[in-house]
Amino acid sequence: MHSIDQRVRQVRRQIREAALAGGRDPQDVILLAVSKNHGVAQIRQAYAAGCRHFGESYVQEALPKIEQLAGEDMIWHFIGPIQSNKTQAIATHFQWVHSVERDKIAKRLNEQRPAGWPALNVCIQVNLSGESSKAGIGVQQVPQLAAQIGDYKQLRLRGLMTIARRGSELKEWQRTFATLRKTLQELNSSGLSLDTLSMGMSGDFQTAIAEGATFVRLGTGVFGPRE
Ligand SMILES: *Cc1c(COP(=O)(O)O)cnc(C)c1O
Repeated sequence: MHSIDQRVRQVRRQIREAALAGGRDPQDVILLAVSKNHGVAQIRQAYAAGCRHFGESYVQEALPKIEQLAGEDMIWHFIGPIQSNKTQAIATHFQWVHSVERDKIAKRLNEQRPAGWPALNVCIQVNLSGESSKAGIGVQQVPQLAAQIGDYKQLRLRGLMTIARRGSELKEWQRTFATLRKTLQELNSSGLSLDTLSMGMSGDFQTAIAEGATFVRLGTGVFGPRE
């Protein structure tokens, strides 16, 4: 049985090693601690171990935690599927949204992000696994959605997010993450300046780092198995 503190040290070491092995600066890879299904006490332990970025997938579950932890310098990332009736809460409680996949949702987030607040950082979620059950849009649809988001003053498009297929092989993970990186490079060649690749979870983050991940989203790796 490992403590959260031990787990954070361990994953930080692994992140560092994977970055160095890939010829990257370890500082360019941010650990996003995915705290879904874990309570405020555990989040505080991860915070004490140095985590500042936290990810949540369900609005209902996230809001009470975010409210209880208000005042701490935590940065909250929404990483789950987005229903229209939840955009208001997301636009007012989170600094980042990784899971934008429709213009309608982007438009609502833009309208509901309060005037005078810093722009909401957003990533477009891309489905590269070929599983129709998974969220995210196809690569071909990315430029159009990126252009639409570019018109929204209260949003700042930062990059792309993907979830690799579970239980797949190293080769397939590499292909998935490399495709996301190439898609980002193409957007940047067409005039955007995006800096974020949100890819890699507890089972595949080292591969994602080798392919250029800037956020790795770790739940189990930081907090242990979810109930
Ligand atoms: C739950 C979740 C994670 C973390 O998963 P682990 O395998 O526990 O690291 C990362 N990204 C998304 C989008 C998730 O929903």
